[in-house]
Amino acid sequence: MTFKRAAVIGIGLIGGSFALAAKRAGVVESVVGVARSADTREGALEMGAADEVTADAAEAVRGADLVYIAVPVGATRSIFGQIRDSLEPGALVTDAGSTKREVMAAAAELLPDSITFIGGHPMAGSEQSGIRAARADLFEGAAYYLTPGETTTQDELDRMLALVRALGARPDVKVAEYHDRMMAATSHLPHLVAAALASTIHRLASGQKEVGNSLGTGFTDTTRLAEGSPEVWRDIFLSNPDNVAAALDRMIEQLQQFGAAFREMDRALFDQLLEEARRDRRELLDQRRRELGGQ
Ligand code: NAP
Repeated sequence: MTFKRAAVIGIGLIGGSFALAAKRAGVVESVVGVARSADTREGALEMGAADEVTADAAEAVRGADLVYIAVPVGATRSIFGQIRDSLEPGALVTDAGSTKREVMAAAAELLPDSITFIGGHPMAGSEQSGIRAARADLFEGAAYYLTPGETTTQDELDRMLALVRALGARPDVKVAEYHDRMMAATSHLPHLVAAALASTIHRLASGQKEVGNSLGTGFTDTTRLAEGSPEVWRDIFLSNPDNVAAALDRMIEQLQQFGAAFREMDRALFDQLLEEARRDRRELLDQRRRELGGQ
């Protein structure tokens, strides 16, 4: 399976990494990269992620048999509107957005029947953003969720599965509702907590003398995610509000239990909460090891 011309709309960290990985694997012959800023377009050419670049998404998809959309989730609907009349019949269109319900609904509403749209979400990435952080090996070994549409055929899904495997990733087909609920717990809540933690620590400690020396690995390990692109994360929260708010409520309940342990100076409750936390973390990591081992 090879694609002659891939249009990568939003050639930042994820779009750029896709382009580099697909070219390296030989599944894509040429890439046209789309970005708003001249700096991103230049970076994509310099890094060899794109063979040509443009700011015009409609122009990019003309003649493309593969379209990979990797913009913040909230911009995806507008991209669909810009490209719908220029898509080549038979093209495979996919996205990399971290939430899937809104994207799937917009695709069903806006994209023509002559193309195939399959949603995607690579479980790869980092707190960095932008084309200069892109890497050809970003997807290697990573899970890669796929959300087919209601009319997707097995042949179309097989093409997408082959593309994801060519990137070195492990495809996993899910329905969008389940995907978004699961991600709220395992990805969106951790980001939210890291962001709140970084700001809370700053409020408590900044301005105090020599606070820098006290910022050890505990600080860097637990707040790393707060470095993520505010634009990308705003759109993730806005497109999964019910699930993330429910996860946040559970987090607040958990923190309130710690609050009760302090108020009562309840040694047994501290033991229970901390032992549970250690066991829970180990169980989750064991499950990940089992699932990876089962591939
Ligand atoms: P990024 O590095 O900031 O790249 C985003 C790209 O989208 C840039 O090329 C940017 O163009 C373009 N863009 C931004 N807003 C746009 C708009 N309103 N209209 C058109 N283009 C726009 O972000 P990323 O981390 O690659 O994230 C891209 C997508 O992948 C997001 O949907 C995110 O949820 C998803 N994702 C991210 C990760 C992760 O760890 N970062 C992992 C999995 C999935 P300019 O450079 O010109 O601004």
